Amino acid sequence: RKAADRYLKREVLGEGTYGVVYKAIDTKSGQVVAIKKIRLGKQKEGVNFTALREIKLLKELKDPSVIELIECFPHKGNLHLVFEFMETDLEAVIRDRNIFLSPADIKSYIQMTLKGLAFCHKKWVLHRDMKPNNLLIGPDGQLKLADFGLARIFGSPDRRFTHQVFARWYRAPELLFGAKQYGPGVDVWAAACIFAELLLRRPFLQGNSDIDQLGKIFAAFGTPKPSQWHDMVYLPDYVEYQCVPGQPFKTLFPTATDDCLDLLSKMFTYDPKARISAQQALEHRYFSSGPPPTEPALLPRPP
Ligand code: ADP
Repeated sequence: RKAADRYLKREVLGEGTYGVVYKAIDTKSGQVVAIKKIRLGKQKEGVNFTALREIKLLKELKDPSVIELIECFPHKGNLHLVFEFMETDLEAVIRDRNIFLSPADIKSYIQMTLKGLAFCHKKWVLHRDMKPNNLLIGPDGQLKLADFGLARIFGSPDRRFTHQVFARWYRAPELLFGAKQYGPGVDVWAAACIFAELLLRRPFLQGNSDIDQLGKIFAAFGTPKPSQWHDMVYLPDYVEYQCVPGQPFKTLFPTATDDCLDLLSKMFTYDPKARISAQQALEHRYFSSGPPPTEPALLPRPP
C-alpha cells in the first residue's frame, strides 16, 4: 500500500510558502494531521532525492517546542510532509484584540520559542523563516516552531513567492546586507522581532522593501558603527547609510521591565557574532526573575 492511501484528506487549511496545506486523518492511528504538499514539478530528479534525504534528517528533530514531522513521501510529482495538527498560531493570538497578554504570558511564549530554537541550533539546523504564523499553538497551549529547516532545503521563501512579504519584517540585518554565510543569529533576531511584537501588539519593524527594512532597523537602534559591527562593510550588499541616532530601548518598549529590555537589547545586537544565542537567552535573568512564565495550559488563546 502506498503511504498516500493512509491519509484521508479533509479541508484545505491554507496556502503556504511551499504549497497547499490540508487537514487530514491518519486512518491507521486516527490522529488528525496537517499535510503540506510541496510542488516539485519543474525541478530535476536529483533535487527531489536531495530534498528527501535532508527531510529525513528533520524527522530526527524531536522536541516539545518543535512541530513533529511524522513522515514524508513523494506522490504524483509532489512531496507530502505530514505534521502533527495544531489549533492556532501566535499571529492569531497577537492580532486578537480581546486577548490581554500579561508580562508572564509574554515570557511563556518567548521562552517556548527560544527553547525550540536552542534545541534545533544545538543540532546545527537553522529555521531562517521565523515569524508569528510559524509559531503554532497546540490544544494544550504548547507553542511549537513549524517549518524548521525547510527554507534551506526548498530555497528562501521570498524568492519563490512574492506574496511572502511579512517575512521581511523578521529578517536580520546581515541577511538584508546579502550575507551568504550566516548562522543561528538570524533566528535569534527574528525571535527578538516576535518578542517586540508581543510587547507592542503590532509588527515592530514594518519595512516595505529590503532597503526600507534596514532604514526601519537603523531608525530604531541607530546606524551601526563599524566599531559595533566590524564585518558589516564586507557584506555583499553593504551600502553606506546616513548616520541616524537610535531610540533608547525604554522609549521603544515603554511597558517592558529592565530585565526584559536587557534581554531584548542583547537579541537585537547588530553583529551576529556578538548577538546572544538562543541558549544564552534562556539563561538570562529575565526568565529567573519574577513573574514566572505562565503555564502553557493557562495561556490566553483565540476562541
Ligand atoms: P506559511 O508558509 O505562510 O508560513 P504554511 O505553509 O506554514 O504557511 O501554512 C499554510 C496554512 O496552513 C496556514 O494557515 C497554517 O496555519 C496552516 N498550517 C500549517 N501547518 C499546520 C499544522 N501543523 N497544523 C495546523 N495548521 C497548519
